[in-house]
Amino acid sequence: MTTIIENSKPSLYERQPEISTRFPVHQVREDFPILSSEVRGRKLVYLDNAATTQKPQSVIQAVTRYYKGENANIHRGVHYLSEQATQKYENARRKVGAFIGATVNCEVIFTRGTTESINLVAQSYGRAFVREGDEIIISALEHHSNIVPWQMLCQEKGAILRIIPLLENGELDLGVFDKLLSSKTKVVAVTQLSNVLGTLVPVRQICKKARDAGAVSLVDGAQSTPHLSVDMQQIGADFFAFSGHKLYGPTGIGVLYGRAELLERMPPYQGGGDMIRSVSFEHTEYADLPGKFEAGTPNIAGAIGLGAAIDYLQSLGMERIAAYEAELDGYTRSRLQEVEGLQIQGNPEEHRGAVSFTLDGVHPHDIGQLLDQEGIAIRAGHHCAQPLMKCLGVPATARLSAGLYNTREEIDMLASSLQGLRTLFHP
Ligand code: PLP
Repeated sequence: MTTIIENSKPSLYERQPEISTRFPVHQVREDFPILSSEVRGRKLVYLDNAATTQKPQSVIQAVTRYYKGENANIHRGVHYLSEQATQKYENARRKVGAFIGATVNCEVIFTRGTTESINLVAQSYGRAFVREGDEIIISALEHHSNIVPWQMLCQEKGAILRIIPLLENGELDLGVFDKLLSSKTKVVAVTQLSNVLGTLVPVRQICKKARDAGAVSLVDGAQSTPHLSVDMQQIGADFFAFSGHKLYGPTGIGVLYGRAELLERMPPYQGGGDMIRSVSFEHTEYADLPGKFEAGTPNIAGAIGLGAAIDYLQSLGMERIAAYEAELDGYTRSRLQEVEGLQIQGNPEEHRGAVSFTLDGVHPHDIGQLLDQEGIAIRAGHHCAQPLMKCLGVPATARLSAGLYNTREEIDMLASSLQGLRTLFHP
């Protein structure tokens, strides 16, 4: 499925020039030390934000400060440093809770990232409540981390995995979703924003339909949280997963939000220290939420760094970030359309973040490597979405993904490099 977008309309930027002047992108760039570095003798143009984002100075400082002067293990200590570290870790949980609109802070479980959050739900909720013949619905847009954990569960339980297919433009076919939903459906797990096509999925509507059918819903927010203001009460998901490193925070930290009432009913995912109230050789009493799901020493510095990333984003304002990025996204798509022989994959009405494309006669990996020679970082490959590549009928794509610090000048550089590449391969 390849959609070539006609270049008939003025770009979104031309229609809304005032937005970009309101967002202080050049000032924002100064907060990110890595952005002033050079790569292969050229100024770095970082357009691989769907893979991971760069970190602002405040996040780097929060992590460094913790290790330099505050490091201790949490919860169990009676000494000063341990109390301080515990306070900071739990404060980070409060920040996350407020950021996503959780009802109570114990609905925020710290994990290693989106992948672990989804595995937690599949292994804990899934193993306890999914039975032979039950059905789990995911979509054709999913990242491997929202496919494989459900496949593993289905294999173990004899359950069936159902897939919401794609429409020609890269949106989900919700008509088919309606038909797939039945009393057999136990879980509906979908991404809010595709890491390949940039499709924004109407998750609120999907979660409501899942609930009406008696199923629980999980939303993969790995790509949406950096670009949009997300609100658990508004989305209405039972579970929501995201990663700190895609949200301008550290790697190795992520979040599972779960409705307290469901988390209470679920068995622990892992056993060990910190997740218990009492242990004897005969019997173990588990801790209350959120401790029940946080066995062992967690990534304390990571949680503190994620809290600092949230402070940073809130100081800029998620609504402003979203408005700026929407404009940049429109500009990017219109500039790419001008490159001869370039096809943007999919053309969803609502889109953000990632833009995947192919260039006639040039392998995506060659595009990635040749752009790298110019200091431009994009990604090429299957983007951990091999089933989606199959639907698109391509083995791989080149993908650029902008973040809050990218500029129109950088998009212009990318477009002119791509035009140069095209000329190189088709003189
Ligand atoms: N879901 C989506 C949509 C993603 O884009 C990614 C990572 O690219 C993941 C899940 C997995 O995230 P992580 O590797 O941080 O666990």
